[in-house]
Amino acid sequence: MLEIKNLHVELEEEDKKILKGVDLTIEAGKVHAIMGPNGSGKSTLSYVLSGKSGYTVTDGSANLLGEDLLDMDPEARAAAGLFLAFQYPVEIPGVGNMTFLRTAVNAQRKARGEDELSAAEFLKSVREKAKSLKIDADMLKRPVNVGFSGGEKKRNEILQMAMLEPKMCILDETDSGLDVDAMKLVSDGVNALRDAGRSFLVITHYQRLLDHIKPDVVHIMADGRIVKTGGPELALEVENNGYADILAEVL
Ligand code: ADP
Ligand code: MG
Ligand code: MG
Repeated sequence: MLEIKNLHVELEEEDKKILKGVDLTIEAGKVHAIMGPNGSGKSTLSYVLSGKSGYTVTDGSANLLGEDLLDMDPEARAAAGLFLAFQYPVEIPGVGNMTFLRTAVNAQRKARGEDELSAAEFLKSVREKAKSLKIDADMLKRPVNVGFSGGEKKRNEILQMAMLEPKMCILDETDSGLDVDAMKLVSDGVNALRDAGRSFLVITHYQRLLDHIKPDVVHIMADGRIVKTGGPELALEVENNGYADILAEVL
């Protein structure tokens, strides 16, 4: 699904190296988690994969289903099946949530050569998915994320993901700022989307999210590289002992 090789990334503005040789392969149907200290480059990795400007790739590659991601504009990446749930979801004043979702879904379908959803089909689908995430009708009518609580923003990201039906889903600290009930809702939403043809990269600081969204593989990222890879037990080790022991071993 996703194959990242030796990815090196610098900031465009200043001479600062952030990713220093990331290698990561995620097979179809798998859930990988990335944990790691603040500032290790986790969000940068998700931004570079999704095509945010401001970064220069100085070496390496990133392919989605065999296509060169780094060569595509962000829209093409989304059309190819990539989705990023932001660590800090953006407010979009003046754009209704429902309008935003419908425009995005139809743009996606068009790029894939599929017919647009009718208004009735779209409404039915969005209402069903919103209900399971406990997103009420009022939140669907308001401008995207404007005045939403932290937890509502995160649930809205999952609604977008459910509507767009991506192949490679990246969730950047979707659990941060969620209370226990919201975390369960979000996890259930993610688990409902788990499928043999869909993969997830879950970036998190906390093992407790991984109790709900059970990962196949856990990676530790530090100083711009993946420094250790293991199974779910690696997340427990971090939870119990922090990063110090792991980092002392590898850095
Ligand atoms: P993480 O998500 O693991 O906490 P980030 O990817 O957000 O880490 O950041 C990695 C490093 O790059 C940090 O030191 C951060 O300050 C720096 N960084 C990222 N983006 C920028 C930017 N636009 N300007 C300056 N520094 C940045
Ligand atoms: Mg951080
Ligand atoms: Mg981050």
